[in-house]
Amino acid sequence: MATAIHLRRLGAAAVVATAASGAFLLQPSLSASDRGAGSSSLGAVRQRISDPNAVVPSRAAQEAALIGASAANPLDILVIGGGATGCGVALDATTRGLRVGLVEREDFSSGTSSRSTKLIHGGVRYLEKAVFNLDYGQLKLVFHALEERKQVIDNAPHLCHALPCMTPCFDWFEVVYYWMGLKMYDLVAALRLLHVSRYYSAQESVELFPTLARKGNNKSLKGTVVYYDGQMNDARLNVGLACTAALAGAAVLNHAEVVDLLKDEASNRTIGARIRDNLSGKEFNTYAKVVVNAAGPFCDSLRKMTDQDAKPMICPSSGVHIVLPDYYSPEGMGLIVPKTKDGRVVFMLPWLGRTIAGTTDSNTPITLLPEPHEDEIQFILDAICDYLNVKVRRTDVLSAWSGIRPLATDPSAKSTESISRDHVVCEDYPGLVTITGGKWTTYRGMAEDAVNAAIKSGKLTPENGCLTSKLQIVGGDGWDPASFTVIAQQYVRMKNSHGKVVPGVMDTAAAKHLSHAYGTLAERVAAIAQNENLGKRLAHGYPFLEAEVAYCARNEYCESAIDFIARRSRLAFLDTDAASRALPRVIEILATEHNWDDSRQKYELEKAKEFLKTFKSSKNAQFVHSFFTGTLTGGIFSGLNSGAKEYACHTQHMVIVTHL
Ligand SMILES: Cc1cc2nc3c(=O)[nH]c(=O)nc-3n(C[C@H](O)[C@H](O)[C@H](O)COP(=O)(O)OP(=O)(O)OC[C@H]3O[C@@H](n4cnc5c(N)ncnc54)[C@H](O)[C@@H]3O)c2cc1C
Repeated sequence: MATAIHLRRLGAAAVVATAASGAFLLQPSLSASDRGAGSSSLGAVRQRISDPNAVVPSRAAQEAALIGASAANPLDILVIGGGATGCGVALDATTRGLRVGLVEREDFSSGTSSRSTKLIHGGVRYLEKAVFNLDYGQLKLVFHALEERKQVIDNAPHLCHALPCMTPCFDWFEVVYYWMGLKMYDLVAALRLLHVSRYYSAQESVELFPTLARKGNNKSLKGTVVYYDGQMNDARLNVGLACTAALAGAAVLNHAEVVDLLKDEASNRTIGARIRDNLSGKEFNTYAKVVVNAAGPFCDSLRKMTDQDAKPMICPSSGVHIVLPDYYSPEGMGLIVPKTKDGRVVFMLPWLGRTIAGTTDSNTPITLLPEPHEDEIQFILDAICDYLNVKVRRTDVLSAWSGIRPLATDPSAKSTESISRDHVVCEDYPGLVTITGGKWTTYRGMAEDAVNAAIKSGKLTPENGCLTSKLQIVGGDGWDPASFTVIAQQYVRMKNSHGKVVPGVMDTAAAKHLSHAYGTLAERVAAIAQNENLGKRLAHGYPFLEAEVAYCARNEYCESAIDFIARRSRLAFLDTDAASRALPRVIEILATEHNWDDSRQKYELEKAKEFLKTFKSSKNAQFVHSFFTGTLTGGIFSGLNSGAKEYACHTQHMVIVTHL
């Protein structure tokens, strides 16, 4: 039986897990002082990444580099999976001077990493557990996550920011309890604190959050405690990590699936992978001294390629989010209810001009395109309506999606509640290092641990230690929150209108969006909008521009219409109807960039429409009222005029035809 080693990265201390037989020690994470990075290596890497004229190698060049990694001349590390973890590993390893490849079956961030709550957090809930269960392990988890929270925000300032979150209190005990708990969260954060938490009276609270309910459970609002966590644009951060790794020298390839692992029979060691390019159908082998399995919820299927009887490490749990119009929550203030009357956590967070509400936690099979179930969506709607002074309607759901948490567990654990949200690094098969679990917030530290394990496994010789704690991702170095003013003042949006090219203003919404999405590279996108007449909006009410499609095809490995609507822009997540309306133009521009013929364009349209159906907006959930045949429309809902309770009552008559 192969040896399994679990390494938990818990602060500075070396934590070593032993295995049943032949256990060996993994080195602890290198401390900052051990990193031996030397300012010269960091400076050189930074220069390469922040060069305003730098262009990522083409996809063809990346594939050629992977094909060129032969048994005689292997890569140091081949990473499988282009989520936050895999891209973090590729960036860490390549900036240590190692020769690195990464393959991703679909697109960077197409898995769980684009489907998160988008919070960069230390885990207030774990702090509560640490205190009540006197669990030092949980406390160290919070310490570590808070340290990483600060680094993620610092390293991608254009894509991340501090978000105030309001906790409503309907009795004075809650006020004291949450105030003390959140002050403790501030204290644990210490120097990594974003902003200090504080109490607001009921009157102040409703001024800050006008849609907050004044009463809950027949008790009047006593006030709120507001604390801070970080918020991000998860998929764009993930794509940014992939592009940064590519600029630093890694051969990263999306739409490339590992279909088998290559083994050296004599040494019983994994020595590479058989890869299928899912765009061309071509298959090839890539060899590496160490393979890092960062396939998220799918990591067991990779381990099974080595040993059919591999014990599962993943206990999958699905989480659903819904997106509602902006008027549900004010801009710049979230609402988090740590314990609803039936013990759930619910939240509503402003995000990219809309409101995200969630989430659920249910057992699930591991599937490529998880879909939210109607009862999960209604569960969220029911939960938030108790805390809102606004009519909560299913018809307001602009998009809804499901993601699978890759919780790493001991196979004998019973419920997901008892599972640690910590990460696991193991090399249970020689040459195959698996990294999974953890959370988005801690991707950098997870990557550091995985690369340390890979170095040990392959006896690799990096040029320097880990650099990523001080390395900004592409577009982040030199970015300033006021950068958008330059875009607004210096560029116009040239657009084709009725056969004529006309100039349009680069309005604040468009300028701010470009600045946040592309950081210091936003001017390149603005220049395309101006110089190539690609300045039109892709969907009414959203700031996404035609120029972004061309830019992403040229600079961000955007290879399909879905890549654009889901991960380069976030239209699919924000509003499925708007995404659907944008599709023809997105495909037209991608066709020009990638020389697609008519049949490829048709295929892209069909595939993207099918994809959008998995996001259960009100458009996609075909309701059938049990008293009437036909599709339930806004007309039926228009009879509801006094809020959440009525909503819940009427929904009992619905028969949902999807998912059954
Ligand atoms: C509902 C929900 C809410 C969450 N909210 C938060 C939050 O607010 N904050 C936070 O910090 N964390 C959050 N998380 C956790 C976080 O999203 C995950 O921990 C993280 O995204 C996992 O990243 P990953 O790279 O390990 O997995 P993934 O993102 O799933 O990446 C794995 C990749 O491997 C690829 N792959 C699989 N098989 C193969 C193969 N054979 N060949 C090539 N590629 C392959 C997949 O296509 C996939 O892209 C949330 C998770 C969920 C589900």
